[in-house]
Amino acid sequence: MDFSLNDEQRQIREMVHDICLERVEPRAAEIDESGEFPWDIKELFAKHDILAIPFTPEYGGVSGSVLTLLVAVEEISKFCVTSSLILSVQSLGSLPIALAGTAEQKRKYLPPLARGEQLAAYALTESGSGSDAGGMRTRAIKRGDTYVLNGSKTFITGGSVADTVVVFARTDQNGDTPARNISAFIVEKTMPGFKVGKLEKKMGIRGSPTAQLFFEDLAVPAANRLGSEGEGFKLAMRVLDHSRPGIAAQALGIAEGAFDLARKYARDRHQFGRPIAEFQGIQFMLADMATQIEAARALTYASGDALDRRLPDISASSSMAKLFASDTAMRVTTDAVQILGGYGYLRDFPAERMMRDAKITQIYEGTNEIQRLVIAREQLKEKT
Ligand SMILES: Cc1cc2nc3c(=O)[nH]c(=O)nc-3n(C[C@H](O)[C@H](O)[C@H](O)COP(=O)(O)OP(=O)(O)OC[C@H]3O[C@@H](n4cnc5c(N)ncnc54)[C@H](O)[C@@H]3O)c2cc1C
Repeated sequence: MDFSLNDEQRQIREMVHDICLERVEPRAAEIDESGEFPWDIKELFAKHDILAIPFTPEYGGVSGSVLTLLVAVEEISKFCVTSSLILSVQSLGSLPIALAGTAEQKRKYLPPLARGEQLAAYALTESGSGSDAGGMRTRAIKRGDTYVLNGSKTFITGGSVADTVVVFARTDQNGDTPARNISAFIVEKTMPGFKVGKLEKKMGIRGSPTAQLFFEDLAVPAANRLGSEGEGFKLAMRVLDHSRPGIAAQALGIAEGAFDLARKYARDRHQFGRPIAEFQGIQFMLADMATQIEAARALTYASGDALDRRLPDISASSSMAKLFASDTAMRVTTDAVQILGGYGYLRDFPAERMMRDAKITQIYEGTNEIQRLVIAREQLKEKT
């Protein structure tokens, strides 16, 4: 099945596929083993304008279409999820600027990100507030024409390599203003008081740095506030509505990569004198994997298409895509390991890495329990 992709989307998919097959796939196991950020892949993506895909031509980008971005993320994720995150997080970290920035903020910050000269990150989560992001404690106190930030963030993808980090902080000045008086700020890594803490050791996506960030009397110009004071929480949620299909695309790509591997192995591996693909038990597993992948792709592309067409009420479709595709990635990669038998459990084959990488898609940008809350809330709204 091929969800009505246009010529540009097909061309980008082909280009990304060829580059990844030649340059990314051979690096994937090494990136996982070393746990180091693959600067060579970042340069490769910058050189081929892959990092420019999330941006419109007005700001030096090549597309700006969500569906095009999803297709690119899906393609990279078939080979190496850590590498796909370089593109995903460039989009996630720049989305608050693209959605709520002034013309001046966009002109200053988006073009170097589109060229891949700089990297972006998105800093919402804190050690005490994950799913309940509104419970954050980082504060921004207004002093003249600056805000002084104090606090910390945790689990920030690319936090240690990013040049530009969008940070969410409380702006209630005396603690007596309504909850969720949260604002968003564009912070540059060179601003005094910006400190990178420890990098987390993880189960999967091991080459993607997950950092703690500290802000110690960090003075941000008021001109770097995104939108009005107190509008930051709404913006954070709007960004997630736009970015969750990207996690769905990542999950979809992992599932497709695992399926291709399992299908090939089932044809090649002989037991009891014939290929294991001739056993109905294996065939049924492959049939279920293929069906789940098709369904995940339909939901993922539909959510990207809805965003591109600026349809209203996109929260549920973004959450459904993320929920279903990530659960699919987990099931399909687990079954792929099973089809490879004992070899699936070895690092000699990528199946176990895919299974480890798949797990995070059920957790970040809102756990799948939170996606269910979003979907249920939308279903229970009064419809006229
Ligand atoms: C590798 C990695 C990268 C990340 N990257 C980023 C990033 O770039 N930027 C960023 O801001 N954050 C990032 N995160 C944070 C991520 O989004 C959070 O970890 C996630 O939202 C869950 O928060 P938590 O870990 O605090 O879990 P908790 O919120 O403590 O949840 C624990 C469990 O309780 C469940 N739960 C919580 N509330 C409810 C509820 N109301 N109903 C039912 N179940 C509930 C959860 O689903 C989960 O199973 C990253 C996390 C990881 C692990």
